[in-house]
Amino acid sequence: MKRLEGKVALISGASSGIGAASAIRFAEEGAKIVICDIDEMKASSVVQAIQATGGEVIFARLDVRDESQWISAFQAGVSKFGFVNVVMNSAGIAVTGNVETMSFDDWNKELSVNLNGTFFGVKHAFKNLRKKGGSIINLSSIEGIVGHPEYAAYCAGKGAIRNLTKSAALHAGRSGYKIRVNSIHPGYIVTPMVGNDPVELERLAKLHPIGFLGEAIDIANMALFLASDESRFATGAEFVVDGGFLAQ
Ligand code: NAP
Repeated sequence: MKRLEGKVALISGASSGIGAASAIRFAEEGAKIVICDIDEMKASSVVQAIQATGGEVIFARLDVRDESQWISAFQAGVSKFGFVNVVMNSAGIAVTGNVETMSFDDWNKELSVNLNGTFFGVKHAFKNLRKKGGSIINLSSIEGIVGHPEYAAYCAGKGAIRNLTKSAALHAGRSGYKIRVNSIHPGYIVTPMVGNDPVELERLAKLHPIGFLGEAIDIANMALFLASDESRFATGAEFVVDGGFLAQ
């Protein structure tokens, strides 16, 4: 039996990087997928990759900053597949700026996507999952646990996602919902967010004791575990996948 048989996964930011790799990996393991992102064109290669292997998938346009689009995205998933029982909040941006240089506009821009977007995702996941249960997976970061001087708002948002996850997990448990909520904390992963400048990638690789940078599939495999019933005893927890970055 495949590991995600009977799962319907809605993934934000699923046209790129970690979200895209997770969508493809989840589909390989039998999940039906709702690919959510702003740009349908960009999502088409992920949709096609899943269809090419016989997977079931739809695209739903979702700007995570807009709560009404969350409602529509869940409606699209439920009307196509009957229910949603896995939600992965992967959409994110990384705006640079330290606490002195960052404008309030940039601060709000960052937090409106990473933090507000995750809040809406968790809130509407609860509405959809509370009857039958399921798993919510939030993308935080190593920078939700330690600071980075040049990413003030990114660190603030990712730290908040880490603890929003715990609050939501406790609420689920106390409400008797069979909903698990966990966060993933990747080290630097080679995706469009990090870019492809070879000098910069080499510099970043050296920050990780394991000696190389992660790839999107490394995070997708952790997300797969959290989406599956193999992780049934895990909730309110933080899963670090960082090549040893935080062990230092
Ligand atoms: P990515 O390749 O840039 O993918 C992020 C996706 O989110 C993109 O498709 C992006 O679209 C989309 N997005 C941006 N704003 C959105 C919005 N308002 N509504 C819906 N979608 C939106 O980045 P990634 O590396 O896969 O990152 C995925 C998650 O992992 C993020 O939360 C990130 O912070 C986290 N993370 C990444 C790393 C890393 O090193 N890569 C490390 C730790 C944590 P556009 O391309 O059009 O902006």
